[in-house]
Amino acid sequence: MTDCIFCKIIAKGEIPSTEVYEDDTVYAFLDINPVNLGHTLVIPKKHYENLFDIPDTELGILGTRVKKVAAAVKKALKADGINVSMNNGPAAGQVVPHAHIHIMPRYTDDGFRHWQGRRGYHNKTEAEEIAAKIKNAL
Ligand code: AMP
Ligand code: ZN
Repeated sequence: MTDCIFCKIIAKGEIPSTEVYEDDTVYAFLDINPVNLGHTLVIPKKHYENLFDIPDTELGILGTRVKKVAAAVKKALKADGINVSMNNGPAAGQVVPHAHIHIMPRYTDDGFRHWQGRRGYHNKTEAEEIAAKIKNAL
């Protein structure tokens, strides 16, 4: 996709990046604005906007590469833990509309705050109703 910043990174030349891993299907590079040093993005080489657009076969490959790169980030940066996350849609915080998975090295007491749960379910019935809606949509 000509206007996409991550497609331009994959094409190499137009926008530089710091490569971490590459194969036929995926490209991984350092996030320019890391949560902690070593924060890496893993992206499909083909342009898909988000999780739902990625064909299952490619998604499977992407998943195995995320695991491989995450293990390397943890080892290389001596991280205490790793967050793997993906923002899908602007409401979920997706800024770059080319699917990407964040791998973030974490350290005990590094100060990075998780989102907070707002409230529990009022009762079991409410939880069952929500679960039923999701099941019906599967
Ligand atoms: P998201 O909010 O999930 O869309 O995250 C987009 C991520 O892309 C952010 O963490 C940015 O720091 C990162 N980013 C944007 N432009 C570049 C770039 N040219 N090179 C590396 N990372 C980038
Ligand atoms: Zn793209």
